Amino acid sequence: QGFAYTAETGHDSDLTSRTREPEWEDNIGYFIKKKLSIWCRLVDGQWGLGTILSTSGEQACVLLSSGTSINVPVGELLPANPDILEGVEDLIQLSYLNEPSVLHCLQYRYSRDMIYSKAGPVLVAINPFKDTQIYGRDVITSYRNRTASSPHVYTIADTAYNEMMRDDVNQSIIISGESGAGKTETAKIAMQYLAALGGSSTVGIKHEILQTSCILEAFGNSKTTRNDNSSRFSRVVQLATGERSFHVFYQLCAGAPSPLQERLNLKLAHEYNYLNQSGCLTIDGVDDAKRFDRLLDALDIVRIPTEDQEEVFAVLAAILWLGNVTFKVTDSENHVDVIADEAITTAARLMGCTTNDLVLALSTWKIVGGTDSISKKLTLQQATDTRDALAKFLYARLFDWLVEQINKSLEMGKQCTGKSINILDIYGFESFQKNRFEQFCINYANERLQQHFNRHLFKLELEDYEADGIDWTRIDFEDNEDCLDLIEKKLFGILSLLDEESNFPKATDLTFANKLKQHLNANACFRGERDGAFSLCHYAGEVLYDTSGFLEKNRDPVLPDLIQFLSSTGCKLPRLFASRIPCQSPKAGSSLNRMGSIDSHKQSVGAKFKSQLFKLMHQLETTKPHFIRCIKPNSKQLPGLYEEDLVLQQLRCCGVIEVVRISRSGYPTRMPHQEFAERYGFLLMGDLVSKDPLSISVAVLQQFNIHPEMYQVGFTKLYLRTGQIATLEDKRKQLL
Ligand code: ADP
Ligand code: MG
Repeated sequence: QGFAYTAETGHDSDLTSRTREPEWEDNIGYFIKKKLSIWCRLVDGQWGLGTILSTSGEQACVLLSSGTSINVPVGELLPANPDILEGVEDLIQLSYLNEPSVLHCLQYRYSRDMIYSKAGPVLVAINPFKDTQIYGRDVITSYRNRTASSPHVYTIADTAYNEMMRDDVNQSIIISGESGAGKTETAKIAMQYLAALGGSSTVGIKHEILQTSCILEAFGNSKTTRNDNSSRFSRVVQLATGERSFHVFYQLCAGAPSPLQERLNLKLAHEYNYLNQSGCLTIDGVDDAKRFDRLLDALDIVRIPTEDQEEVFAVLAAILWLGNVTFKVTDSENHVDVIADEAITTAARLMGCTTNDLVLALSTWKIVGGTDSISKKLTLQQATDTRDALAKFLYARLFDWLVEQINKSLEMGKQCTGKSINILDIYGFESFQKNRFEQFCINYANERLQQHFNRHLFKLELEDYEADGIDWTRIDFEDNEDCLDLIEKKLFGILSLLDEESNFPKATDLTFANKLKQHLNANACFRGERDGAFSLCHYAGEVLYDTSGFLEKNRDPVLPDLIQFLSSTGCKLPRLFASRIPCQSPKAGSSLNRMGSIDSHKQSVGAKFKSQLFKLMHQLETTKPHFIRCIKPNSKQLPGLYEEDLVLQQLRCCGVIEVVRISRSGYPTRMPHQEFAERYGFLLMGDLVSKDPLSISVAVLQQFNIHPEMYQVGFTKLYLRTGQIATLEDKRKQLL
């Protein structure tokens, strides 16, 4: 029976032609006659509006809206949308879906402070870089009451919440975009909405959740040249000009009350080497001291005990003082001693160890061979690296610990429904002049997320149609499996080749680069370049990577031996980390690993990154995803400035136009007949008992005059076009 219905509606050729892009070039005569608007590519590469006056051969004479007329190749014209579609909420509604039309629609809305638009199921958010007055209690209320319905983060959060309650399925809100595009702000806006949904019974917890972003931002964010409040992960020991380390360091230096200041022997930010190297200590419009007070409040609210807060600040101060530790060269081989000064003594005191132990840890290298051990002095470079690695280690552990505490605290306050909404704020695709191991990891993660997005929106859709006997004209979509495969595959994938080289004592970044060339040059996504570089074809474009530093960065930076050494010599590392110090006894030769190759059973950074990414993807796959694509309208962080090229490049990167194309020609809403019949069957007037779910579904659709073009009936499910379920839901509510 299912098949009969499918055959009936599925081969509706009229439908297919109507949902396809009209073959516009055949209609140029019509455009001339009716003086319809077209987009015309101008000499500067921008698109201008105009009408076609005439054509001759491949050339068209176009009257631009500015009043001038120009001759352009017909191939460089695209149809514009009628005025009535100016600034539509959902790009799906555009009659002509081409890049200038999409760009124009978004710009039209953006210039009127309508920063949110839909692209089918995806929310597009353009960073306004100003206060737009579209948030807060009253706006939340109107979205909850459905008196407001224009695209908003609130509608996404609302949908996620309702679907979690209705379907008993975990949800995720996946927010992506470039640095500075507005991901973190968007995540906060979503959280505000969800917190407000909780009602008065959850006042405590919602306050707490919102406070966590203040803490995570202080410890996890810093000023970069692209974003004054960028979410970052490692920048403790080295800064670029104009950038800052994590906010919390400046907040502590500026805002610590004097007793704390004295206990930690705190100086001003400019006196610390880890902070003063970038020529940037403050951010316009930000009062670090005030932020510190807010941080203290937030730590209290999430119930971090005062003693633990003290420890947190002690670790921060220890890191700052470590950065001031200096060395003097003692022999011709560049071996060093630590200079005995305030820096080393304060750092040691704050870390809870003797100065002597810290000196040993930073300047010597203990080689254990059988039962003997010998100490060897480090060179200046080795000692500096060790010091910096210790600082990074302490910060990384501190951050992990904080996240753990916050999660515990939230767990305690949680009214357990067993269901969750995950909000993922993830760094976007990066392509700079010089791209290094960090960019490689970031882009790899984005490649995976993109696959998730593709799978969800495109692949699953097609597979579903096919499996359910729905006629579906195939649509090509970007598939990035080749690129992922190139990075991930076990044998001769980039990550495994990197691990192999990292384990090989004589290897260098150059030998690694050559190895890549040797094994991967045949791959279409890979190209070996000169000077140890290689380029990859990512979904978002080609990126040139510089391999220098790859091997070093891939080696485990966790330095368990150093920490082991410190604890074995009686150093009382801050209590915070007590449970985290590796407890296995040091193995012969293990110290060697610190400077040389990575141990075979220790995970490399790349491998760890991959396994964390897999865990994340696995977690996401058990949820119903909702996507928000953040767009940065200009690179100056200015309001009101819309740079077409920059926006277009981001729209292409995240496949927005592709999504629209697919969504509006497909049937985004799918419901098993059983479910549909249970939900809407009661709306039928007649007797139901004798009917099977499929027949009930069809009867419901017919009774409510849902146009046959608006649905298809599959073997197991009903397929509806956008907006149809809303109509039915309305009817259902009226009758309930
Ligand atoms: P990302 O996390 O993508 O790097 P952020 O969320 O930190 O970017 O946003 C960067 C800056 O842009 C914010 O500090 C804020 O000034 C501005 N911004 C982002 N989203 C909004 C918004 N919805 N309204 C107003 N300003 C915003
Ligand atoms: Mg961010």
